[in-house]
Amino acid sequence: MGGGAGATIRLVFLGPPGAGKGTQARELAREWGVPHVATGDMLREAVAVGTRLGREAQRYMDQGALVPDAVIIDLIAERLSQPDATSGFILDGFPRTIPQAEALEKLLKDLDWPLGRVIFFEVSQAELLRRLTGRRVCRNCQTAFHLTSAPPKRPGVCDRCGGELYQREDDSEATVLTRLKVYREQTAPLLEYYRSRGLLRTVPGEGAIEAIRSAVRRAAGA
Ligand code: AMP
Repeated sequence: MGGGAGATIRLVFLGPPGAGKGTQARELAREWGVPHVATGDMLREAVAVGTRLGREAQRYMDQGALVPDAVIIDLIAERLSQPDATSGFILDGFPRTIPQAEALEKLLKDLDWPLGRVIFFEVSQAELLRRLTGRRVCRNCQTAFHLTSAPPKRPGVCDRCGGELYQREDDSEATVLTRLKVYREQTAPLLEYYRSRGLLRTVPGEGAIEAIRSAVRRAAGA
C-alpha cells in the first residue's frame, strides 16, 4: 500500500450512511488482522452501557446529527493509543468533518503513521434510502441484514451468531433523510480534502458484496 509492498494497512472507509462501509470493513479487518475502528459502533456501545459519553452522544445520534468533533476526536485518539492499533487499522465512519480529518492528520503525523488510502464507497441516494430503511442489525455482533435483499435465514435472528436483529433508532425514514443531508453538508467535503492529497480511491458501492470486496482490496492495494 502507499508505502510499498508489505506496508502497514491504515485505511479510512468513507461514504454516506448505508454505503456498506461497515459490512466491508468488518470482513476485511478480519482478513487483514487489523482492528475495525467504527465510531458509530463505539458510540452505540457507550449508549448501551450508559457511560457519560453514551449519555452525551445519544441525543445527537437519535436526531441523525453528528456528535461534536471534540468528543469524537478524543475517542479516536484514545482508541488509536491501544496496542492493537500499531498493527494498522480500518477507520469506518471517521473522519466525518474537515476538523476531524485535520485532527487525524495531526495525530498520525505525531505517531509517524502515514495514512495509506481513503476508500470512497459510491452509492446512489435512492439505493441508500432503500438500504437504510430496510436494514436490520445484530445486537450482538453488529452484522447487517436487509429485509428483502439480504434477509437472515430465520426472521429476526443473526445467521452469524444467533443474536437478535433490530432496527437502529436512526434508520427510520425521517432520520435517514437528515443523516443523508448531514453527510452532503459536512462529510462530502472530505472527498476533495483527500483527493487533493492523492489518497482518494473510489469503489462502486452497488452490486454483489463479494465483487465490491474485491474492488476494495484492489483500491487498498492489498
Ligand atoms: P454510523 O453507525 O457510522 O452511521 O454512526 C451513527 C451515528 O453516530 C451518527 O449518525 C452520528 O450521530 C454518530 N457518529 C458516528 N461517527 C461519528 C463521527 N465521526 N463524528 C460525529 N458523529 C459520529
